[in-house]
Amino acid sequence: MQVILANPRGFCAGVDRAIDIVERALTLFGKPIYVRHEVVHNKFVVEDLRNKGAVFVEELDEVPDGATVIFSAHGVARSVVQEAERRGLRVFDATCPLVTKVHMEVDRHARRGEEVILIGHAGHPEVDGTLGQYDRSHGGEMYLVETVEDAERIQIRNPDALAYVTQTTLSVDDTLDIIETLKSRFPNIQGQKRDDICYATQNRQDAVKQLASVCDLFLVVGSPNSSNSNRLREIAEKLGVEAYLVDNADQIEDRWLEGKTQVGVTAGASAPELLVQEVVEHLRANGMNTVTEHGGKRENIVFSLPKALR
Ligand code: SF4
Repeated sequence: MQVILANPRGFCAGVDRAIDIVERALTLFGKPIYVRHEVVHNKFVVEDLRNKGAVFVEELDEVPDGATVIFSAHGVARSVVQEAERRGLRVFDATCPLVTKVHMEVDRHARRGEEVILIGHAGHPEVDGTLGQYDRSHGGEMYLVETVEDAERIQIRNPDALAYVTQTTLSVDDTLDIIETLKSRFPNIQGQKRDDICYATQNRQDAVKQLASVCDLFLVVGSPNSSNSNRLREIAEKLGVEAYLVDNADQIEDRWLEGKTQVGVTAGASAPELLVQEVVEHLRANGMNTVTEHGGKRENIVFSLPKALR
């Protein structure tokens, strides 16, 4: 019986940077440091930072005047930035640079008065932040589509001045279907050659696809509100493998392991390796005596910290 560890897995460059920003701010300015929304979607990471002095809030009105506040890796709407400026708060922006890139695309289209379709999941903070980049004062409009059915139905004003962008942590395959639907309805729609799904999401999904055919169980380490972690579980399941998302080893149920001989393990981009190793230990204790690292794409992307925190 063996465990096969997917590669790459776990922390991406954007998550590393976001956590570093909170830790550096705590070191340089002392606690409390306010963080708007969970800096990354992982329960363990958030608890750890909370113990170090981070205070997590959902809105800026929970942040006292004069405080330091960090925006999460998912990004925020322009109105949030403006509100922080108006209040004179000291802000460090932990928005992943790959999300910022999408924000800039939205801004560019809005300035030209072009309409924009965002492909993403309603209610996710990245989607709220990206929708909140669109400036309607130039006469355009922005829409959200979540599914192929939405793409089939959506009504826009001018198909010749239209663009699409995507959330960074979607399923690559599902997104492709949505983009193809939009392209067939609106042949002049502009957008990235493929999508705005980030390298980390793409690589982790590829690794699961490579391993799924040899596994009879897949465990994904990640929190329930982590978009990219949920997609990893779904991909394994779509490929016919029983798959579960677990925050930590304690959530693994004995019945999942019954009769299984090859267990794939991966982790979402916000899940620490420490939790993966605890899962591996749990599996070893339950008879999985061989642990193999599956070869995968090497990642060497690093995003630098804001100047004031270096
Ligand atoms: S998952 Fe992608 S977009 Fe999100 S923080 Fe990581 S690198 Fe950035």
